[in-house]
Amino acid sequence: MCDKAAMASQAPSFDEITRLVEAAHTIAICAHTSPDGDALGSELALLELVESVWPDKHVSALLADDDVVPRIYAFLPGAERLVRACDYHGDPDLFVCVDLSQPDRLNDARVVLERSARVAVLDHHPANVPFWDAGVVRPAAAATGVIVAEYALHLGAGLTPTMAQNLLCALVTDTGRFQYQNANGEAFRVASALVDAGASPSDVSLHVYQSDRLSYLHLSATVMGRITTFEHGRIAYSYATTADLEANAVPVAECDGLVDIVRRVDGCEVALFLKEVPGGKVRGNLRAKSDRDISVVAREMGGGGHPAAAGFTVEGDIDHALAVVLPKLRALYACDEGTVPSSHSERR
Ligand code: 5GP
Ligand code: MN
Repeated sequence: MCDKAAMASQAPSFDEITRLVEAAHTIAICAHTSPDGDALGSELALLELVESVWPDKHVSALLADDDVVPRIYAFLPGAERLVRACDYHGDPDLFVCVDLSQPDRLNDARVVLERSARVAVLDHHPANVPFWDAGVVRPAAAATGVIVAEYALHLGAGLTPTMAQNLLCALVTDTGRFQYQNANGEAFRVASALVDAGASPSDVSLHVYQSDRLSYLHLSATVMGRITTFEHGRIAYSYATTADLEANAVPVAECDGLVDIVRRVDGCEVALFLKEVPGGKVRGNLRAKSDRDISVVAREMGGGGHPAAAGFTVEGDIDHALAVVLPKLRALYACDEGTVPSSHSERR
């Protein structure tokens, strides 16, 4: 099901991770703050994989934030096993980072990482400074779920229907239902193997994409009504303030999909969605529909991510965030002055 070259190049690192697992008695697994479908699906699948291969290990699956599992992901098999890092007081022999390779994205779990004897990483984000003892970080993988599936294969462990369901959710959400640029052949091959192993695409879709609360849809309408484009229609943005969220009784954690509304604009190559979050901060989601690398802008804003999907958090309100980020987005086009797409004019 997998890319043979990728499997071969990962094998030594998988073996190193295996040695760390075998040497550990207590293991904590954790994904990034504000977890998405890939973070949670990969974490839960890895939990089941480690417990099935090494039943004598004591494995905990942590949530980086002092928060509940996002509503749309509560259906994932094993979600009830997730423990908030702030409620976990162990000093694990091994800490496994899933879907992240930057410790500052661990929030409350960072202190657990610091209390751990060894660290392993399974991820697909472009890594900056390796801080782990063993890891597989492969940005070409569409989702961390692909890497976890490959680790299961490497271990010779069968994929159970529940593991497969978690990993399919990881893959479906990180590829935007196989619509983003990262939806490569490997992603489809792994998805096919997951469905053969018992995952249900319709079930994932039902929970993740067809269970919006009415109030969320009303907030979406506000966000949609505010979409503004500039740079000849190539950049589109919208936002939600704290007042918008309160007026519609929508928790911040439920707003992950709103950037996908912005990216729907015909001709837009870069989409930005901003929302005010507690603590006087603004969280930004950036997406690229062309090959412009918007992770550069995310990093300039103190965040990070992939070339086509990145994010950041800044202090201040929406006005301040827009004032800082819009010129940076415009600068992406500074080199191609005069290349105006024919069918798009500046508009709101
Ligand atoms: P999202 O916009 O959905 O929160 O994130 C898009 C991608 O960028 C995800 O892969 C996410 O892990 C990454 N990302 C989002 N925010 C940050 C951030 O603040 N720092 C880093 N390093 N990556 C981020
Ligand atoms: Mn991911």
